[in-house]
Amino acid sequence: MERLTIKCASCGRQWLAVAPLSLYEQQAVESCPCPHCGAYTLCCRELVDLAPAHYWQMGRTVHAH
Ligand SMILES: [Zn+2]
Repeated sequence: MERLTIKCASCGRQWLAVAPLSLYEQQAVESCPCPHCGAYTLCCRELVDLAPAHYWQMGRTVHAH
């Protein structure tokens, strides 16, 4: 598992996940409100920001494998 950053699209804050997150844990994080502004706009992404769209696609299509 890769280290992830969690970013809030509402207030723009981002922070490093305390531990590597599984896909299900990522989804759980994304379903929680932002601890800073309370908006439900959190998203997880790889710490190395090479191809965000690729990682999003991985998350969406993981069941295909
Ligand atoms: Zn926020």
